[in-house]
Amino acid sequence: MTELGIDVLCCSVGPDLPYLIGYEAMPLERLTMLVVPRDAGAVLVVPRLEAPRVQECPDVFALEPWEETDDPIERVAARVGAAQHVAIGDQTWARFVLALQDAVPKARFSPANDVVGPLRALKDPEEVDRLRRAARAVDEIAVHLRDRPFVGRTEHDVHREIVERLLDAGHERVNFAIVASGPNAASPHHDAGSRVIEVGDVILCDFGGTMEGYCSDITRMYVAGEPTSEIADAYEALAVAQEAAVQAATVGTPCEAVDTVARDVLARAGLAERFVHRTGHGIGMDAHEDPYVVQGNTTPLAVGHAFSVEPGVYVPGRFGLRLEDIVVASSDGPVRLNDAPRDLAAVS
Ligand code: ZN
Ligand code: ZN
Ligand code: ZN
Repeated sequence: MTELGIDVLCCSVGPDLPYLIGYEAMPLERLTMLVVPRDAGAVLVVPRLEAPRVQECPDVFALEPWEETDDPIERVAARVGAAQHVAIGDQTWARFVLALQDAVPKARFSPANDVVGPLRALKDPEEVDRLRRAARAVDEIAVHLRDRPFVGRTEHDVHREIVERLLDAGHERVNFAIVASGPNAASPHHDAGSRVIEVGDVILCDFGGTMEGYCSDITRMYVAGEPTSEIADAYEALAVAQEAAVQAATVGTPCEAVDTVARDVLARAGLAERFVHRTGHGIGMDAHEDPYVVQGNTTPLAVGHAFSVEPGVYVPGRFGLRLEDIVVASSDGPVRLNDAPRDLAAVS
């Protein structure tokens, strides 16, 4: 905060709050806000009826419950005081930001992620362990799917099975379960729908949830029957691109250089135009967070950075392919947290 000239940090819904104090705000119209002045103690302004959920930690923050008829914005504004530069949590509801801006009209506002993002991006060994346990849980699901029938089922039916397995595996929350078959897989974030899976389809399964506060995220590809040579060749190039990008993710390498490695392999296979998104995103308490593996991000990878490596190939109207693992940068080189088989699995 000193480096950035920020006087006070305000965090509401989203992962900053649980990261800092172990409490997750309810995403409701009643305001919860942690106010962290640079030169004074932190205070959690919280609705009285939610205060019992807070695990108190007086060394770290004071608790200030507000009553149903209080104005919580007034409480927060009083704590913000004469601060000139306020950093506000990226996911704070607009109505609270607008009201706070009215209450402290002289203050300048900027995103709290500038402060908390770089801290959250660097995982300590316990956080890496949590990410690893979450990764193992989804690995098992990806392996299990290899023995499941797909043909004749709707995408939505497979989606429901994955959701159930994510919860059974110990996730407290399901974040997404993309099931995209045949031509639908050409849309990277396709919503599982009523399409019935047919012989010859590729099936893209990309799923993850939150376990012990940390996220899982994996993509594996299945094919019903025999893939066409076009699909088999594209998948081979994709797997080479993914492996090369993982191996390139060494400490000190700029994030964008990892993206370049994946892109170059696909370009050599004539698939440059088919890879329409960045190579990856950081992962932690949020499914997508810093550091982003994308052109323009020159941040060098550091020990403890955790991120996905997930190149894809998308041919509109026909098929789509993606392969995704979570990787942690370490002093011994890149460590993959996922180890489910990475072949194009033939299913029935
Ligand atoms: Zn995605
Ligand atoms: Zn994913
Ligand atoms: Zn991902």
